[in-house]
Amino acid sequence: MLQLAGRMGRAKPSAIMAVADKAKKLKAEGRDIISFSIGVPNFLPGEHVYQAARDALAKDSGQYGSNRGAVALLDAFLKHMEDLGLTGYTRANVSTGIGAKHILYNLAEALLDEGDVIAFPTPYWTTYIDIADIVNAKIVELPCPATQDYKLRPEQLDKALAAHKPKVFLFNNPSNPTGMVYTKDEIAALAEVLVKYPDTWMITDDIYNRMLFDGLQYTNFVQARPELRDRVIFVDSLSKTYGMPGWRVGFMAGPEVIAKAVTTLNSNHITNLPEVTTAAAVAALTGPQDVTEAKNLEFQGKRDLVMEAMNAIPGVVCPRPQGAFYVFPDISCAFGKSHNGTFIGNDVDFCNALLEAKGVACVPGSAFGEPRALRISYTCPTPQLAPGMQRIQEFFAELA
Ligand code: PMP
Repeated sequence: MLQLAGRMGRAKPSAIMAVADKAKKLKAEGRDIISFSIGVPNFLPGEHVYQAARDALAKDSGQYGSNRGAVALLDAFLKHMEDLGLTGYTRANVSTGIGAKHILYNLAEALLDEGDVIAFPTPYWTTYIDIADIVNAKIVELPCPATQDYKLRPEQLDKALAAHKPKVFLFNNPSNPTGMVYTKDEIAALAEVLVKYPDTWMITDDIYNRMLFDGLQYTNFVQARPELRDRVIFVDSLSKTYGMPGWRVGFMAGPEVIAKAVTTLNSNHITNLPEVTTAAAVAALTGPQDVTEAKNLEFQGKRDLVMEAMNAIPGVVCPRPQGAFYVFPDISCAFGKSHNGTFIGNDVDFCNALLEAKGVACVPGSAFGEPRALRISYTCPTPQLAPGMQRIQEFFAELA
């Protein structure tokens, strides 16, 4: 019998896309749908990015490029890291990929043999589980419920590292799905624990590092404890902060051996990022940052609007996010109730009923390992935000 590889039995399509597809279908049927479901930034980069792409097209070499990434791109990324406070890295420490997702996939291939342990806080970005499953790693989740503001505590990390001795600890800051951002002190406290476990690599998926609110500053474990530099792999992307998800540009920076491994994997599948994409990426990183900064302010205002609406709903617990563009309320107070006769037993029932009754699409928290919550991605056009939140409030008010 013809068969697929065993790993395909573990590979699943993205759970977030399922909700988005259903919302799209209802919209096509003529329903008035407000989508809070997909995590796309919904803005385009500045004109200078398109101009750089057009210029590159005009002098396209048509040739293969570097497996690591063009020198101009590596240098632009290194400068971008310096601006974030991550200094002392060289071209040999960095590599590129087709988005952060591809970088994370490469890192899983590079670091995890079958049965190796990977640990990460829950709620997690869905793809972490999916990639870990494909490489058949053993997953250890570190539960961080709403009652602890969805943040990992140092003593919890210490206990988990001691008990499971993970080969990889994967950390995401600011977080998708919760939008939570760790303060400098919180990062320092976690870094303090991490120095005690020299056999654990750390991947910091920090692709929302330019989307912080309330004057908060981005911090990495390396800034807190420079001796961690030999084990920390920083992952970044243009998708969210530069409004370029479809351009597919991701980066990593870390020990030379890791950058080399990612580059070797690139040489075996993607070969290189295209020239035009590379030129656009360089322009985004080195050109004016005004679009990113303006959007950040806009998202902060939208966060406030969503928080105000969520806080007005009795029973909902909603930690206040300070980054990215997500809010992740614990809506478990609705479980066991009904909406116009539709029973709501869990987060999936809730999201389905909300979409059917009010035309509002959110992603069930179980997609991120937290079935008491749902994710609201608030990058929709501003005029849709208040009516969407009002529909959610009405939905809660109508529960019986
Ligand atoms: N990490 C996180 C936390 C994300 O939210 C996403 C995108 N949703 C990615 C990585 C992947 O981003 P990219 O578009 O660069 O592949």
